Amino acid sequence: MKDKEEYQGLVIKSYCGYFLVHCNEVIYRCRVRGTIDTKEVLVGDYVKFSITENDEGIIKGIVSRVSSLKKPPVANINQVILVFSADEPLLDLAEIDKFLLIIQQEQVPIVICINKIDLASPQFEEIKGNLNFYDKMGIPVLYASTAEKKGIEELSSKLAGHISIFMGPSGVGKTSLLNIIKNDLCLKVSKVSEKIKRGKHTTRFVELIMIAPDTWVVDSPGFSFYSHKLDPAHLALFYPDFQEYLENCKFADCFHVQEPRCGIKAAVAEGEIAQFRYANYCKILQSLVELERNKYR
Ligand code: GDP
Ligand code: ZN
Repeated sequence: MKDKEEYQGLVIKSYCGYFLVHCNEVIYRCRVRGTIDTKEVLVGDYVKFSITENDEGIIKGIVSRVSSLKKPPVANINQVILVFSADEPLLDLAEIDKFLLIIQQEQVPIVICINKIDLASPQFEEIKGNLNFYDKMGIPVLYASTAEKKGIEELSSKLAGHISIFMGPSGVGKTSLLNIIKNDLCLKVSKVSEKIKRGKHTTRFVELIMIAPDTWVVDSPGFSFYSHKLDPAHLALFYPDFQEYLENCKFADCFHVQEPRCGIKAAVAEGEIAQFRYANYCKILQSLVELERNKYR
C-alpha cells in the first residue's frame, strides 16, 4: 500500500483508542489524528483514512453519518430487527408497541421477527391475528425458530444490504438468532493486519459483523433499551393510526383517557382505531406516568 493515499472505509469496531476499519475486504487498525477527536468517531461511521508503512491507518475525518444511536453508540443503522417470541415469554403486543415507540423516534425502518414459533400455543394463535396490523403499517412480520432452524433464510434476506441491529426483550432469542446467522453466513473477511490478530480484546464492545457483502449486523450483547425516555404527553404522537383523530380532541393536552370529547376515544368506539392498539396505548401511558411519579419519590 502506498503511503499518504486516501482510503474510505467503515468503522466496524472501536477499542482502547483504536478503530478497526473495513475497506475493500481488508480490515485496518487505525488511530485518529489531527482535527477530529477519538470520541467523535463511532462504530458504523464511514471514514477517510491513510495508511502508514506498518499497515496502520490514520483516520482523517468522517465521510458520512446519516444517523446515530446513543445506546448502543452506533452510526448509520438503517434497519432494526425487533425480536419477540411466540411463547416463553408469551407474545405481548403492548410490548411490541413500546419498542416501536422508542424506535420510531429514530426514524429507522423496522422488521418484526417472532421467534420460537415451535412453541406456538393456542393462546399465541389468538394473538397472532392482530400481527397483520403491523404488516399493514408497513412493518413486515417474520416468523422464525432457532430450535427448528425455520425462517432463517427469510430473515437473512431482509438483512441484505443493510446495517441492522437486533432489539427486543431479553429471553426471546436474539443471541440465538444472531449466532445462527453468524455461523451460517458470516463471510471470512480476507485479510486482517497481523497486529490485530495479536491483540486480545473482550467482546464487550459494540461491533459490526459482516454476514454478506454490504451486509452488517451489530453485535452488542445485553444493552438495555428501556433507558430511553418518552414523555407521556407525546405518547399518542407515536401512534400513526391515531394521527388523523387527534384534532378532534377538545383539549390540546388530552391524554385520551378520562377527558370528555376525545377524538381518539370516539374513533375507538367507531372501530376506526383498533381496540387493542388503544388498550396498549393506555397500558403504556400508565407505565410512563408511574415512571414519572417514582422519579419524585
Ligand atoms: P436473548 O436474551 O434475546 O438473547 O435470548 P437467547 O438467545 O439467550 O435465548 C433465550 C432462551 O430461549 C435460550 O434458552 C434459548 O435456548 C431459547 N430459544 C432461543 N430460540 C428458541 C427457539 O426458536 N425455540 C425455543 N424453543 N427456544 C429458543
Ligand atoms: Zn383525546
